[in-house]
Formats: sequence, structure tokens, C-alpha cells
Amino acid sequence: MADFKQRWHQLEQKAKDIGYRTTDRHLRLAVTGLSGAGKTAFITSLVEKLLTAATQPPYGGLPLFSVCMEQRFYGAQRARQPDLNIASFGYDAAMQALRAELPTWPKSTTNISELRLAIEYQPKAGLLATLTDKATLHLDIVDYPGEWLLDLPMLRQSFYEWSEQLLAPDSPLSHTSAYASFIANLKTLDAKVEPADETLAAVADSYRLVLEELVHQQGFYLAQPGRMLLPGDLQGTPLLAFFPLPRGFWLDHQGQTVASPLVSSLEKRYRAYVKQVVKPFYQRYFEDFDRQLVLVDVLGALNRGRAQFEDMANALNALNQSFRFGKGGFWQRLFSPKIDRLVFAVSKVDQITREQQGNALSLLKHLLQPGWQHADESGCQVEAMAVSAIKTTRYGVVKDRVLGEVSVVSGTELSDDRPTLTLFPGEVPTQLPDDQFWQQQGFQFVNFAPPLMPVDQPFDHIRLDHLLEFLLGDKLS
Ligand code: GDP
Repeated sequence: MADFKQRWHQLEQKAKDIGYRTTDRHLRLAVTGLSGAGKTAFITSLVEKLLTAATQPPYGGLPLFSVCMEQRFYGAQRARQPDLNIASFGYDAAMQALRAELPTWPKSTTNISELRLAIEYQPKAGLLATLTDKATLHLDIVDYPGEWLLDLPMLRQSFYEWSEQLLAPDSPLSHTSAYASFIANLKTLDAKVEPADETLAAVADSYRLVLEELVHQQGFYLAQPGRMLLPGDLQGTPLLAFFPLPRGFWLDHQGQTVASPLVSSLEKRYRAYVKQVVKPFYQRYFEDFDRQLVLVDVLGALNRGRAQFEDMANALNALNQSFRFGKGGFWQRLFSPKIDRLVFAVSKVDQITREQQGNALSLLKHLLQPGWQHADESGCQVEAMAVSAIKTTRYGVVKDRVLGEVSVVSGTELSDDRPTLTLFPGEVPTQLPDDQFWQQQGFQFVNFAPPLMPVDQPFDHIRLDHLLEFLLGDKLS
């Protein structure tokens, strides 16, 4: 009898082992957004949540994530990343910064990176549930700068069209102080002479300074080529040593394009960039992504002012275009994307009061333009949410003698002396703001410090569980 029991147990174990092997699943979740959108903080907090959920009562701190709510979540561990040629996401360094005695925000995304988690759970339905009581989902989280997606239109533009667009008289580039020096450098170029590599590199550098001022000082978002400011491993290569050229260099009086050694050198570099950088990025990575999250710092853009906000709206529109795969269209000829769930999320909504979070979501939907939610023919489901990866504030109500009860947020300001601030950060518009709004606007979105938390307690968040349910829930059912 004992023998039989042992044999039975072995058979059962074997069946389960086969079950494990056939039930292992794999999902690649890509996270993007423009610089400062909150990608690094988001991934760090998400990973921390998943690593600790099994020990956090009740429901792993993620009650809207059905695998946790139904108590089928066994745990998650970090696993060896699958791609040896992609940098590792710096989770440990990010946690060190966030968990320091004086917590600081981790370093932002500048390149593509990835991290793998093995999530163990109890399947509840289908073949999996009959085969095994424990399955594993290998979740790869891939982080990449949204700026790289802004190059997308270049795939369909010629060097001349690109130059015309960037150097149009009303272009934000022309309002930077570095623009004059770029134009002065252009004037030193002799179109009839084959330019030396160093000459192109020097002018490209003065163009880079224009983009740098535009983005880092003036708070704009659209900057092409996207790799010039976030070069990743292309730093210093001739692939990035090109720039737009005013039409005076390539159009004659009759409006005909004139060939010259300078123009053809730049055109060649432009085409090489599109062929060797832009296209392969989509081909190599997009074919692999199953799910995509786009974080949008709507509040930061409102804070920066009208021109910057409108620029962000254009950039968001360009990002959105990257995910519209319609069958038989341009994309399908280039590669075969398989993203079947896409989320746009307003990030950092802990900076505003609870009532204002709905406004921020409604504004995001307006920014995405009508029809944003309709899955295209490829069947991709699209959702919009308002989230916060790391909640830095508490909500409260204060009594004002004139206004009566006012909702406020309270948190620690990210400054040397770290004062506690309690404030009403301003009213977020529900639609695209009009003239009157910009004249009256008064925002006070403060850069709060990450909160000091007990070691064994993960950061508070806003709706990360809702987001996880949409992005992963079906794969863990
Ligand atoms: P990335 O450039 O997309 O990687 O953005 P980061 O993750 O580095 O975030 C940029 C900045 O946004 C951080 O340094 C923080 O100041 C702020 N931030 C990011 N996430 C949150 C959040 O959940 N809440 C708050 N209040 N601020 C955040």
C-alpha cells in the first residue's frame, strides 16, 4: 500500500511537472512615455509591488488585481533577463534611492532596458486549471524613451520635407537663443564642397544645443532626431551627425531641387538614420511587445504653459500613431506588431486632489482625440487611466474663510530642508484649455519627495492594481 501511495505521488508529481512546463507563459510589457513621464518610478514601484504582494495583507495591497483579490497569487521573483544585448533595468539602484534615509527619486530612463519577473499563481480556469495548481507567468518589462517614437514620421518623409517642417518660420526651434548660432554655423558651409565629417559633427552639435535648450530649458517635447538628446549607444556616431537644412541650400529660383555635395551628404545621413535606427527599432522591438503602457505627464505639461502643453499634445498624438496598426496598412508592410492591449495613463496624480483626478483623466482622453478608444482592425484594446506609482501625498480638507471647505494635498517638498506643504494645487481642466484658461491659470503642482516608508512596507500607489488587471489580469486567470 505504501508503495502504491509513493508511486501515485510520483505520478502526480510528474503530471504536475509536465503541467508546469506546458503551462509556463510569457508576456512582454513595454513601458514608454516622454522624458520625465515617470517610467522609472513606475517600473520600480510595480516590481516592488509584485515582489512583495504575497506577504502584504490584505490582497497583496492590490485588491483590484483579480489574481490577488482571489488569493491565487503565490509570489514573484526576479529571473534572468532573456536578452543579453539589452541593458538591465536598474531596479536595485532605484530602490536604494527611494529607500534611502532621505529618499530621492531614481535616475530617469535614457535608454532601453528590461527586467524579468517570474510570477507564480494558481490558474482558475481552462486547461491550465485542470493540469496544474501552480503556473508561472514570465513577465518581461521593457522600458524605452518615448522620444524614440517621435521619429516615426521620418519613415515617410524625405530629407527635404523634414527640413521644411523643422525650420518653418513659426517652429519653436527658432525661438531658442541657440538657434542663431546654429544658423551662423550653417552659413559657413559651402554647398559645392564635400563636407568633412568633423564639419558635419560641429554643425550637428550646434543643432543639438538648440534641441537641448528647447527640451531641457523651455520644456518642449518634440525634438528630432529623437536620438540626438537620448542617444543610448549611438553617442558620438556619425549616424547622429546630421541636421535640417534651410531650403536656400537645396531649392533654386524655379523651385527645383538642386543637388550638391553638401545636400547629398546630409540626405545620405538622414536616410541612414531612418534605415539603421528608426526602422530597426520598430522591427526589432515592436514585433515582440504584447502589451504597451504609455505614461503621460499631463500635469507637468499644464504647469509649463500653453506652448509647451500644445507641443506635448502633438507629441502624444505622434506616440499614438505608433500604435495604430490597422491591417494591411503602413505598419503591416514594415513589420507585424502584436500588441493587443494598450493603456495611456496620466501619471503622478497623487499631486492633485481626488476630485481633480477625474478631470485629469478626461483631459487625457481629449488629448488623445476622438475615436481614441476604438480598437482598430487589428483588435487592440485601448484604455485610459489616471495613476500614481508612488503616492507622495495625503488628502485632506481645510476650511477657508471665503471659500469654505477646500480639498487639499499634503506632502514633503523635494528641497534641502524638506518642508511639509499643504495646498490646493489648482483646477485641472476637463478639456483642451481655452484662451481664458491660460490667462487665469494658477497651478502649484509641487515636486514632492518620495515618502519615508517602513522597510517592509511597499509604497502606496493610486490604481496600479487597476492598471495591472487590464495589462496582465487575463494572463493570470
Ligand atoms: P522617466 O524620465 O519617464 O523615467 O521619469 P521618472 O520616473 O524619472 O520620473 C520623473 C520625475 O517625476 C521623478 O523624478 C519625480 O520627481 C516625478 N515622479 C515620478 N513618478 C511619480 C509619482 O508617482 N508621484 C509623484 N508625485 N511624482 C512622481
